[in-house]
Amino acid sequence: MAQRVAVPDGANKKTSRVRVAVRLRPYMDNPDDKDEGPCVRGLDSQNLEIINWRNATETVKYHFDAFHGEQTTQQEVFVSSVKPILPHILNGQNASVFAYGPTGAGKTHTMMGSSDQPGVIPRAVSEVFKLVKAEDEGWDYSIGMSYLEIYNEKVLDLLSPSSQDLPIREDKDKNILIPGLTLSTISSFSDFDKHFVPASLNRTTASTKLNQRSSRSHAVLLIKVVRTQRALPHRQQTGKLYLIDLAGSEDNRRTGNQGIRLKESGAINLSLFTLSKVVDSLNSGTAVRVPYRDSKLTRLLQDSLGGSAHSVMITNIAPEYKYYFDTFNALNFASKSKLVVNKPFTCETVAVLPVKRAKEDHKAGGSGT
Ligand code: ADP
Ligand code: MG
Repeated sequence: MAQRVAVPDGANKKTSRVRVAVRLRPYMDNPDDKDEGPCVRGLDSQNLEIINWRNATETVKYHFDAFHGEQTTQQEVFVSSVKPILPHILNGQNASVFAYGPTGAGKTHTMMGSSDQPGVIPRAVSEVFKLVKAEDEGWDYSIGMSYLEIYNEKVLDLLSPSSQDLPIREDKDKNILIPGLTLSTISSFSDFDKHFVPASLNRTTASTKLNQRSSRSHAVLLIKVVRTQRALPHRQQTGKLYLIDLAGSEDNRRTGNQGIRLKESGAINLSLFTLSKVVDSLNSGTAVRVPYRDSKLTRLLQDSLGGSAHSVMITNIAPEYKYYFDTFNALNFASKSKLVVNKPFTCETVAVLPVKRAKEDHKAGGSGT
């Protein structure tokens, strides 16, 4: 508790904060790896710890708005982190939900899920239709969707795959818009699916051709709710919900990328790096200038991240040792407050591990990161 720094200036800042949740996916056994056990574990619904690579007898503890352990269901993640913000988009407010974290840690599982374990996107879309149906206070609702990808700092329309890089503009009321981006009207969940599923498949096909493009691009789904008052003066309100599966946060420079890969990495780093600066300045409450304009992703989100918008970042992490440094970096990005605790990582369950760990971490420490 003591490690949390109070936001000094005013209650207003509270509304622009980005809520940060961490989701740890289950340990996945790989027969090729030695069974090393996890290097990170949850402590309670807000705290987790990771072994300290500098000293295996210590752990580093982090505090978040929410921690979702490996047993957490898709429904629980949705109900605790996303559902509460949805009513706002029916009232003309904006919201954004991101999945952040290294490739393989569960971003796509969290956002899309599978047919037997649907993720945030299908649940949020169903919920929006449910909310609209329940509402009847003299307003007419119209729901639209856009789906785009930001790849190499280019904005590409996934609902119209042949289109070129699209410009991002701002209107006189400071709303961000993309002229020329397909906006498909949807009147039911199956309507949504009809557009979304083939567009997602397009993206996946491109990804195998272009070697993991999907882990290097940001997939941005926009659900736009416009409501119009039936009676005079026919007031109109627009609420936007962004649901984003971010590019992998791992540092591609470490994997020895060259040529086009290196260019991609640089571009991804720009958008993710800028996102981290934006989230940082929003959450520290001391922002002089929030650097939205420094990348395509943050420019697009300028009216839906910070200000009066409701934002949630779900940081996905994996428990295996091979993810250790990517996990450590992701946690450090997601939380500015951490505490080094002087105690062995796992006493009860795997008592022999700390000794083995100490040797291996020595090796890891020597690799120069
Ligand atoms: P990312 O999109 O971050 O690269 P994925 O969502 O593709 O990661 O997840 C990697 C693998 O782990 C997939 O096989 C996925 O089904 C599985 N996975 C991720 N999170 C979970 C979870 N919470 N429960 C079960 N399986 C998961
Ligand atoms: Mg993915």
